[in-house]
Amino acid sequence: MNVFHDHNSRPVQGHFLQPCAKSSQGEFRHVLGQLPSALNCDFCGHTMVSLLALDVADGRLELGMLPVDRLPLLTCREHFHTDFQYSFTSAGEGLEFENERAGFVPSSSSARLTAREPQQVSLHAIPDRIVATRKLAREGRIGEAADWTERFEWDQPQHEVGGLPLRLNRDSTGPDCSLCEQPMPFLAAVVVEVQTGLNEETGLGQLLYFLCRTCACVAVVPDFESENYS
Ligand SMILES: [Zn+2]
Ligand SMILES: [Zn+2]
Repeated sequence: MNVFHDHNSRPVQGHFLQPCAKSSQGEFRHVLGQLPSALNCDFCGHTMVSLLALDVADGRLELGMLPVDRLPLLTCREHFHTDFQYSFTSAGEGLEFENERAGFVPSSSSARLTAREPQQVSLHAIPDRIVATRKLAREGRIGEAADWTERFEWDQPQHEVGGLPLRLNRDSTGPDCSLCEQPMPFLAAVVVEVQTGLNEETGLGQLLYFLCRTCACVAVVPDFESENYS
């Protein structure tokens, strides 16, 4: 695992996601929300869900080399707190797991992801002031950002593609590709709501997705407040 370098993201320009009308013309077909996938979870055998499916035709995302029309960002509704990697065959038909922690079985947990209806979303460039405020915060210079931090919610995780994600757990690290062993650039963050079984409490976290474009390999790194889901 390499250190999560701030510059290691692709695309460099970050975008927030906003719902858009399904029939709107000229929009790329990015879909946020849970869709079933063809893959089963390595740990429990249940069908994996796509949390965000990215239209590779959108040139802003630099995904044109992938052997698929839409890149699904996957998780298991029960094992969302587990790091794992998956990749695509060159034909784009099948998917293979490259489980980073082969043989590792996570402890049982009653927490589950809350269901989210799929909806088409469009991408909007993250405003410069948010990028700048986050950068100051990452560098521990929050005092210099004080003028801005009071004007908008810069510290809430949001769905985003590209750019530098706001991290909840600063100790988290970026993954290396299990196929070529190179550091994987950050691709997207998807905010998730988690329900814990017994008391039905809910909490927010996010799943960070990284992509090796050489190997068409995706890595998932859960990012939750460390006191809740370490
Ligand atoms: Zn599972
Ligand atoms: Zn690779």
